[in-house]
Amino acid sequence: MDKHTVLRDYFGYSDFRPGQEELIGAILSGRDAFGIMPTGGGKSICYQVPAMLLPGVTFVISPLISLMQDQVTALRQAGVPAAYINSSLSLEQLRTVFSNARAGKYKIVYVAPERLETESFARLADGLSVDLVAVDEAHCISQWGQEFRPSYLKIVDFIKSLRRRPVVAAFTATATEEVRRDVERILELRDPVKIVTGFDRPNLRYEVMRPKQKNTELVRYIRKHGNRSGIVYCATRKKVESVCGLLRECGIAATRYHAGLDEEERRKNQEDFLFDRCTVMVATNAFGMGIDKSNVRYVIHYNMPKSLEAYYQEAGRAGRDGESADCLMLFSAGDIMTARFLIENGSESRELSAEERARILEADLGRLEIMAGYCKTTECYRGYILDYFGQSHPKSCGNCGNCSAVFDNKDITTEAQMILSCIKRIETKLDYNVGATLLMDTLRGGHTDKIRALRLDKLSTYGLMRNDKPQEIKLYIDRLEELGYIYTDKKYKALHLTDKAGAVLFRGEKVIFKRKKEAPAKKKKQKSITAQPEIHDTFEELRALRRRIADEEGMPAFVVFTDAALRDMAEKMPVTEAEFLEVSGVGLAKLQKYGKVFLKKIRELVAGRCDGDQNTDS
Ligand code: ADP
Ligand code: ZN
Repeated sequence: MDKHTVLRDYFGYSDFRPGQEELIGAILSGRDAFGIMPTGGGKSICYQVPAMLLPGVTFVISPLISLMQDQVTALRQAGVPAAYINSSLSLEQLRTVFSNARAGKYKIVYVAPERLETESFARLADGLSVDLVAVDEAHCISQWGQEFRPSYLKIVDFIKSLRRRPVVAAFTATATEEVRRDVERILELRDPVKIVTGFDRPNLRYEVMRPKQKNTELVRYIRKHGNRSGIVYCATRKKVESVCGLLRECGIAATRYHAGLDEEERRKNQEDFLFDRCTVMVATNAFGMGIDKSNVRYVIHYNMPKSLEAYYQEAGRAGRDGESADCLMLFSAGDIMTARFLIENGSESRELSAEERARILEADLGRLEIMAGYCKTTECYRGYILDYFGQSHPKSCGNCGNCSAVFDNKDITTEAQMILSCIKRIETKLDYNVGATLLMDTLRGGHTDKIRALRLDKLSTYGLMRNDKPQEIKLYIDRLEELGYIYTDKKYKALHLTDKAGAVLFRGEKVIFKRKKEAPAKKKKQKSITAQPEIHDTFEELRALRRRIADEEGMPAFVVFTDAALRDMAEKMPVTEAEFLEVSGVGLAKLQKYGKVFLKKIRELVAGRCDGDQNTDS
């Protein structure tokens, strides 16, 4: 057997994805390997295929218990002998796994990092021929990352304790250079073949909305997507509770996840989501790493996360199966305040000096600014993300909210002059600067105590914009800040003019406001996973069949077949076993297990279609 045969017969795929073949080749030739690929890029195949071809056993170090179990279930489904060792096993089960491992019954054994230190595991490993140690989510080894796990530091000692050094392969989706360097250094990779695939996820459609009412928009969006799985991320536990409550009141099968729930409930809710018993998961960022549910069709951020990196990771949990999926941000200016508050008041468990804290705070606020820039950009969203990760890209991707939007260019020079000169006048009068609220009140000719006390109603700019809506003025102010005419000082959050402002005030520079046009006329067609109605119906039929089988076998539906496999099936409509094998994601084991029922169903559907055709003919 070679790597192509394994890919086809076990996993049912005809081609490798970018990077996979090189990494697999390296491992099989005895070289260490380091794969940096985005979520959904197909990292698992990179160690699973070599594991089948190497004579001994492969250990996979993985941080999450729930993930291991799913991976092993999926592997067994594909006919790969695999097992896992972690704290969820009883002593009895552990004994069975150990004795099977000793008897050479597994090609792949998943291990939790804490296990590596135990005496019993060391003895087991000592008696086995370990050819490959694959470290999944390798960024957990770095203290720079957000997901540092001290137990990951033990991996090197474990590798050293083995009689013969196996090939070591590390995998991560992290984008930061610091973390990558840490992985190589701490894991002591030896001259690894390093592959960094692109960070683009072409099947994800990025969009940012600024709805007046987030709740209304959220419910509207989720309803439109029917029974498709999705995740809603909120900034706080409290928000998770209220949003989840709201969705349930609207009759949507939602569940929740945050660190304030006890372990039992977290586990249950996660499972409800995994098994499609609940359509929507409302969660804080505690929900995520290792969520291997491949058919998540949308990720909505109810609040803006604290960094673009975090956003990319969280949004990236959509569409792991490669089918199209949405990443939607519901943005409001208040989100920036909330995020800033969370950063400034974040509990830092590690003991740090005042200097270090200040340095981290500054870095965090810098990251927040980049995140906010994403929400406000009028350029391609995908491009903005790829820029951040240092990857080149075309100017327009054609598959994001901004690329498909129609913009109008509004000349707001007059409004800009009013705002800028009002800032100037207030500064001259008071000898200090004020924030957006007071500025807006002055421009709109408000009658507040503060305005009277400060005598701002005596300014020539008082009431200049009394006919403009406050949201509108706020947008102008934001835009002027983005364009670099004003800036907000960090300490008092007061607005100041920059040197650039003079050009608008005194030298006739024009200010153009580029913004998305609301397109009320053309109603967007409901997006569906399959374009043609006939294929769509078939897909739904196959989906129902998958659901039934998954329920019977007590497995998540996507472990039986992914959405991608079902769609391919609906398109190809195989009626023979040979044709069934052509479907992407169908290997020999799945053919044997599910071929009969699915073929039967498809033949029925084909027959039904022929009848239908005859009827319309006559
Ligand atoms: P990652 O761990 O990088 O996030 P996975 O290993 O979970 O990604 O793979 C994501 C999805 O892509 C899975 O459904 C997997 O079966 C599928 N996949 C992986 N490699 C291929 C391939 N060569 N062809 C088609 N699908 C693939
Ligand atoms: Zn774009």
